[in-house]
Amino acid sequence: MSTSDLPIRTARKRVVIIGGGFAGLNAAKALHNADVDITLVDRKNHHLFQPLLYQVATATLAPTNIAQPIRSILRDQKNVTVILDQVVGFDLQYKTVKMESGALLTYDYLIVATGATHSYFGHDEWARFAPGIKTIEDAVVIRKSIFLAFENAERQMLETGRYDPLVFAVIGAGPTGVELAGAIADTAKIYLRKDYRLIEPGDARILLIEGLDRVLGPYPAKLSASALKQLQELGVEVMLNTKVLNIEDKLVTTDKGVFPATVIIWAAGVAASPLGKLLGAGVVDKRGCVTVDQYLNPAGHKEVFILGDLAHFEQEGKQVPGVAQTAIQMGNHAARTIAADLGNQERPPFHYFDKGEMATIGRMKAVAQLKWPLKADLTGLPAWFGWLGIHILFLVGLKNRLIVLLQ
Ligand SMILES: Cc1cc2nc3c(=O)[nH]c(=O)nc-3n(C[C@H](O)[C@H](O)[C@H](O)COP(=O)(O)OP(=O)(O)OC[C@H]3O[C@@H](n4cnc5c(N)ncnc54)[C@H](O)[C@@H]3O)c2cc1C
Repeated sequence: MSTSDLPIRTARKRVVIIGGGFAGLNAAKALHNADVDITLVDRKNHHLFQPLLYQVATATLAPTNIAQPIRSILRDQKNVTVILDQVVGFDLQYKTVKMESGALLTYDYLIVATGATHSYFGHDEWARFAPGIKTIEDAVVIRKSIFLAFENAERQMLETGRYDPLVFAVIGAGPTGVELAGAIADTAKIYLRKDYRLIEPGDARILLIEGLDRVLGPYPAKLSASALKQLQELGVEVMLNTKVLNIEDKLVTTDKGVFPATVIIWAAGVAASPLGKLLGAGVVDKRGCVTVDQYLNPAGHKEVFILGDLAHFEQEGKQVPGVAQTAIQMGNHAARTIAADLGNQERPPFHYFDKGEMATIGRMKAVAQLKWPLKADLTGLPAWFGWLGIHILFLVGLKNRLIVLLQ
């Protein structure tokens, strides 16, 4: 047999996915039937269900209920290799990705989906006094500070017969701040009510500080108003039109006054993962998101996809929201595009399908703007059941779903 009779072995395309969050994980899963070799790199070994992070911060859920090893999620998908490492650089010309370990990965297609991080609006020095909540580690730090505050007060009462007022200050009344403030109020006023003998946990003050004139800024005004009312019913003191000027140890200075606080939590600013700037492709907006075209590619790089919170994709003149739905849909779309390329078909343009938004405000309270499968603005208990159903549906793993439902 001459060499020309040998079957031609075409090399499989290599897809490197950075980030095993909602976008990266869904892209990998959606490529399960594709004739490609996928390497998924994440600096954590787990996929994190961020929407339930504040439940970990208030000890309603355990970290393992919302974090699942990426490796085990993709266990049965033979075309994926999972690598624990941090990506630190790119060479788009030679199509290589550099990792912190020193290892290099080469690709035919690159998917960058490294999400977002906190932004302290140029005041990174505030971070040590007011941690934000993005990772399991953040949630555990916040949980510790919340519960230690009550423990210290009980001990102080025993030692001195009095205790410093317990004040929890949450900065930023977007969905994360609203959910956190509501959950802390529930913890103080319901869950811990009977656990202490010397102090009254329910007397704790929860301040929610917001620079704008309403909570849940991007939501319809009616839902913002309902969220405000529900927060106030829980005893949260909502301070609108209040700008934070400085944060020190247990002290928040605003344009409306200075507020001592036992625990300060930052929920105000979001910036894209720094990999957006490092990539060196496309236009990077002021939050660090990379502008992508209708195929989710940065300018000049059809082989690179930017997805999820890191992407700046505009539809009907505005940037699509940085939420889980966007990331999931983008992940699925990038996989469809790669499959189209492999089948020599035309690439489909991306269209964000907005199913609506919701935020929970403590136990059995929420607001929701549903756009699919039905259109409705919900508040209170019906919205809370909607919120619960959707979160259970998207959580990875049956065991976790059952535990979260029960909790
Ligand atoms: C507290 C909180 C509550 C939220 N609540 C909601 C909600 O109720 N509903 C909703 O729709 N959305 C919510 N969101 C937003 C939602 O979680 C995000 O929009 C979504 O996670 C974005 O997905 P992503 O895949 O782009 O990024 P992520 O899910 O953040 O995943 C990014 C991944 O990249 C990895 N990574 C980062 N940098 C590197 C690197 N250099 N090298 C290797 N790996 C790296 C990270 O470890 C991570 O696994 C919430 C977010 C937070 C923080």
